[in-house]
Amino acid sequence: MNTAVSEPVVDTQIEDIQRIFDLQQKHQYELGNTTAAQRIAKLNKLHDAVLRYRPEIKEALYQDYRKHPSEVDLTEIYPVTSEIKHTKRNIRSWMSSKRVPTPLALMGSSSRVVYEPKGVVLLISPWNFPINLTLGPLVSAIAAGNTVIIKPSEMTPNASGVMKKLLGEIFEEKEIAVLEGGVSTSTELLKLPFNHIFFTGAPSIGKIVMRAAAEHLSSVTLELGGKSPTIVDETANVETAARRIAWGKFVNNGQVCIAPDYLFVHESKQEEFMAAFKKNMTAFYSEDASKESSYARIVNGKHYNRVKGYVDDAMSKGAKMEAGGNFDESQDYISPTLMTNVAKDSKLMTEEIFGPVLPVYSFTNIDTVIDEINSREKPLALYIYSSKKKNINYILANTRAGGSCINHNAAHFFNTNLPFGGSNNSGIGKAHGHAGFLEFSNERGVFKQHIPNALELLLPPYNDFKQKLIDLTIKWF
Ligand code: NAD
Repeated sequence: MNTAVSEPVVDTQIEDIQRIFDLQQKHQYELGNTTAAQRIAKLNKLHDAVLRYRPEIKEALYQDYRKHPSEVDLTEIYPVTSEIKHTKRNIRSWMSSKRVPTPLALMGSSSRVVYEPKGVVLLISPWNFPINLTLGPLVSAIAAGNTVIIKPSEMTPNASGVMKKLLGEIFEEKEIAVLEGGVSTSTELLKLPFNHIFFTGAPSIGKIVMRAAAEHLSSVTLELGGKSPTIVDETANVETAARRIAWGKFVNNGQVCIAPDYLFVHESKQEEFMAAFKKNMTAFYSEDASKESSYARIVNGKHYNRVKGYVDDAMSKGAKMEAGGNFDESQDYISPTLMTNVAKDSKLMTEEIFGPVLPVYSFTNIDTVIDEINSREKPLALYIYSSKKKNINYILANTRAGGSCINHNAAHFFNTNLPFGGSNNSGIGKAHGHAGFLEFSNERGVFKQHIPNALELLLPPYNDFKQKLIDLTIKWF
């Protein structure tokens, strides 16, 4: 945003990209053979550095989009430190090979699954939670024993700069390197044969990443976005729902991949909900959010114009402004905004909003809501506010989404025991905790023969007797 002090990010030289990639390729086996204790030591170094750099991280995010320091603690620092703690507690069991049963036909052998690192990993991250969404996946990549090249977003240059400094201080570039730059640096990196690419960003860019990955058959994790619907049914506690949705919609100025994107409220509760929502908007950010330090800004002019364009488009198609709708281009400021009567073909409803604007629709029949949701791309998250188990289960069973919260929104991100990610258009693969460790690992199946097994009786040349044995094997084993 306009108050940013740092220079725009400069693209990394192609020679440096190749040099560091070569270094990491050479180093990957040594790193891959590290013990749990050695990886825990690395995670401890990362944990300490994040806390040491906490003031600089807060300052960077304030410069990037005026994010409040407490919000930085809650949504950037805490998710990383809790991911580290969870990983340290579990890494020994995750890393240890797992015995699997042996079928009778293979008697005399044993089998186990060994968790080996994918190898050299590329991590491309977005700007909306630049620290959290870079260092979070990094924790899993370290735990699994990979070398990592990080390409942070060019849109939050201050945050990217701090991460480069922080990680450069504690890791050698043959192990972890931050390569700053924009699309051209990303494009150059994507030409290389990485063993795995972990990308967080928009679905349209995810397709570019997957196409590039296909060239080398690199595996991918795609943490994408989309429109996450929220339902408040006739049995919901409206006051609680309104408070939690207002938080989920306006935290980080609505620039959250799992923000409630648009809302369906049961007709019988709509009036009560609108009043409660407006009350909470004011309680959080006063009558004039532009004066409240708790309220962040849109990241830059490009995104400010994008969101404002969506609102203008909806208004031109007959939408009603229920609250907010104030703009200040000089500050990339858009006030907390609530709208109704938004045409389904307006940009606000065809694109991911990614800003502090909430369109609300009323409903009487839940099946029309389900049909509407299912007619769209699978969302990253779907939220249900209801006090009736039957209603909750009905919606869960008849919709699809990367993740869900019941009577909350976005909170599932914070439970490291839950796999986090999308499905199809909202993502491929999962992050966090054990799911994250597995994402960066190859599950190598290892079979060991101890004494000759029955199958050896069935080697060529085949004859009638062997065929009978084969028939018995198929029948009984
Ligand atoms: P983005 O896709 O524009 O950028 C993400 C990264 O990709 C950046 O590092 C950028 O430099 C790079 N990039 C951009 N264009 C590229 C191209 N043509 N080729 C190669 N690399 C390119 O996303 P963003 O604007 O930073 O973030 C917003 C999007 O990310 C939203 O759609 C949001 O929902 C999604 N998101 C998803 C998650 C999740 O966990 N699923 C989290 C945060 C954001």
